[in-house]
Amino acid sequence: MPAELLTEESILRDCPRMSRDDRFAFRCGKDLPCFNQCCRDVSIVLTPYDVLRLKKALGLDSSEFLTRYAIAPFTRGQKFPVPILRMNPEGLACPFVTPEGCGVYADRPWACRMYPLGVADPRNPTPKDTAFHFLIREDFCAGHDAGPPVSVRDWTAGQGAEEYEMMGASFKSLTLDEFWDRAELTPAQTDMFYMACYDLDRFRRFVFETRFLDRFIVDEARVEALRSDDDELLEFAMQWLRFCLFKEKTMKIRQPVEARR
Ligand code: SF4
Ligand code: SF4
Repeated sequence: MPAELLTEESILRDCPRMSRDDRFAFRCGKDLPCFNQCCRDVSIVLTPYDVLRLKKALGLDSSEFLTRYAIAPFTRGQKFPVPILRMNPEGLACPFVTPEGCGVYADRPWACRMYPLGVADPRNPTPKDTAFHFLIREDFCAGHDAGPPVSVRDWTAGQGAEEYEMMGASFKSLTLDEFWDRAELTPAQTDMFYMACYDLDRFRRFVFETRFLDRFIVDEARVEALRSDDDELLEFAMQWLRFCLFKEKTMKIRQPVEARR
């Protein structure tokens, strides 16, 4: 099914479900007539780990990366903000595409890695309705049936997607929580969500340049890691969002001296 026709409903209803052992035939390469066509006028949703990898690869602060390379449209009914890669205004090409292919290949977003596979994750999985992969077929893509069959498992591993899945597990669990069935974030909560998920360098300043560490107990080794380790900071940010949105006890509040007495 072409990407532009895919909605959550149509995926769950119409797309043949593939397990990790199912196989499909696909090949991508410079010799194909469609080379680079998939890198223009496309909606690439960025995950927190995508932003982390890309801003690092480009040597940018997360705020600068988001300003230069992302837009975050917030449409009616949307529960939380999600950044999308900003296509060049002229010609609608991805800002990272080059005549040789993807200019950020080693750090390309998860969606680019997985293509032509998509993943559907029902919010309330049942034994019959669990996460599954599906094939995205677009008319312009000549890669279908052009290569040897490969299993979903091998394709995913070959694209380095497992690391992205591992680093995205806490975000996935956060966004699939039933909290979102009834949630309506305030503007301040929306900004906090966006900062903690995507604007990690700003989140780091929030932790270290406000009274955050006076208010919450974080052990010393972790504080040191948070200063420079983005992976650790992202995990901590997910924990923080669960505390401030879901009211889970994922943070330890420091009792004021008065109260301790
Ligand atoms: S085969 Fe498909 S994925 Fe590869 S360059 Fe062509 S359009 Fe893009
Ligand atoms: S990030 Fe790379 S693979 Fe993804 S759309 Fe841009 S150029 Fe293509």
